[in-house]
Amino acid sequence: MKLAIFNGFRLGVVIGDAVVDVTEALPWDWDVDSEPELASWWRRLCRDYDDVRELLRKAADRGRSVPLAEVTLRAPVLNPSKIVACASNYAEHVAEMHEVQQRTLGHVESWMMEFDVFLKAPSSIVGPGDDIVLPKEIRHEVHHESELVIVIGRGGTDIPAETALSYVRGYLIGLDITVRSPHDRSRRKSHDTFSPLGPWLTTADEVPDPADLEIRLTNNGTVKQSVNTRDLITPVPRIVSYVSRMMTLYAGDLIFTGAPPGVGPIAAGDVLDTSISGLGHMRQTVR
Ligand code: MN
Repeated sequence: MKLAIFNGFRLGVVIGDAVVDVTEALPWDWDVDSEPELASWWRRLCRDYDDVRELLRKAADRGRSVPLAEVTLRAPVLNPSKIVACASNYAEHVAEMHEVQQRTLGHVESWMMEFDVFLKAPSSIVGPGDDIVLPKEIRHEVHHESELVIVIGRGGTDIPAETALSYVRGYLIGLDITVRSPHDRSRRKSHDTFSPLGPWLTTADEVPDPADLEIRLTNNGTVKQSVNTRDLITPVPRIVSYVSRMMTLYAGDLIFTGAPPGVGPIAAGDVLDTSISGLGHMRQTVR
């Protein structure tokens, strides 16, 4: 199922190029008057999706379809307890970062060439049609990183890689927008609007193999990043396991899986189109 959050934080099921509002089918409180960032209904849905899947499917079958072109899609996540992100997870990207760091820092930080994870602020999340806003005070290059993003369903600690996929609720597209400056990753990647997410959550049962997805990003129509997730150094199950040995994963948490090769600078006026096979596409304008 493709689960969208749209308009006034309504829950929708996407079918073809239309969306059906299934908010009223949720068996839990959904308070339109509450601050959406505080909403727990989404995280509960991530955890308990299997219990309500048929309810939602029936509601989607009998509900009224509205063309996607007539709604505003929001980021298909609400109030994640954390955004974890992988670094140095494609060999060709690690190779290109030697040159990028020489250009932007004047030297190479060898510790940054090893696979690891870091945190991005959840306040950096924006939706699939929202703009990326370059901070005025930034004098360094700001880069696009187009990534497969994991959404956690059932949370846990010390999850074995062998069963890790059963903890994944689904997948979506994310951009990990990054300042190439000599500061901590969490600071360089957490500016407001630096985590566009979309276009909707595709549940894991519709993704037969997360190690066979095509990621593609164009900037003003020119292909900049194009990779298959089979090239991930640390694949999805081992990422989930690795993170869960460090910090407890909760329902609705997000994990960016790492930048493909082809990262590069963005400037005001640029239009980024990002797609992942089976997960849809999204478009950001930089300003
Ligand atoms: Mn990244």
